Amino acid sequence: ETQEPILKISNIEVKYHEVILVLKGVSIEVPKGGIVALLGANGAGKSTTLKAISGLLKTEDGKVTDGAIEFEGERIHAQGAATIARKGIIQVIEGRRVFEHLTVEENLKVGAHLRKSGSVKDGLEMVYHYFPRLREKRNETAGFISGGEQQMTVVGRALMTEPKLVLLDEPSMGLAPMLIHEIFNIIKQLNDEQGISILLVEQNAKLALSVAPYAYVMETGRIVMDGESSTLTENEDIKDFYLGLT
Ligand code: ATP
Repeated sequence: ETQEPILKISNIEVKYHEVILVLKGVSIEVPKGGIVALLGANGAGKSTTLKAISGLLKTEDGKVTDGAIEFEGERIHAQGAATIARKGIIQVIEGRRVFEHLTVEENLKVGAHLRKSGSVKDGLEMVYHYFPRLREKRNETAGFISGGEQQMTVVGRALMTEPKLVLLDEPSMGLAPMLIHEIFNIIKQLNDEQGISILLVEQNAKLALSVAPYAYVMETGRIVMDGESSTLTENEDIKDFYLGLT
């Protein structure tokens, strides 16, 4: 069966400050209901790719100067971040930025203004179902909970928007292995049970390939390889050179 992808990036070029060419023709597809991983070394352009999709690029004086980004068949790359978010694309930016002075529940409610149908109460119940720890901590000040709980809070806040596509930037960064495992399990469940499509940026290739059936590898602004995760992990050269799995 061939289904239209929910997200289709065709040959995009991205520049910062009009001159710094960072993406040099990147093409990526995310199937509806799928999880796709975007891998690559530091500075390859992974975060820039996510920001181009979510519209956050504009806040850093970056611009898509060529190519196209289509979401559910509609071109979105000229639109603003707020408009794109209302269409159902939400980016969880790197570094788990919570509103430190608000409680966990207040942080979650920040995402609620983008909801289309469900009540805030239903949204909170859904988040607490997937993250029981956040229910326990709901009245605590977000600045004082653990790093893992802050990461759960930012993912939870994204869920409160009723997203169709979540762009996840390095959810494992700086977390203990146990917590990473827990968060990745939940990501998988959200995909399975809620049908949320996910584009996942990860430094930890092994981890990413364990949840994403398909992956792209980026190097200095270009996609150098893509394929089924099982194929990528079987290829010795790829394992060694691009994924650091050996
Ligand atoms: P990381 O894992 O370190 O975030 P990445 O693959 O996500 O790496 P990007 O953050 O997208 O890479 O950065 C790609 C390139 O763009 C880098 O050379 C970076 O220095 C440059 N860059 C990123 N943001 C800006 C900006 N706001 N202005 C100018 N150059 C930038």
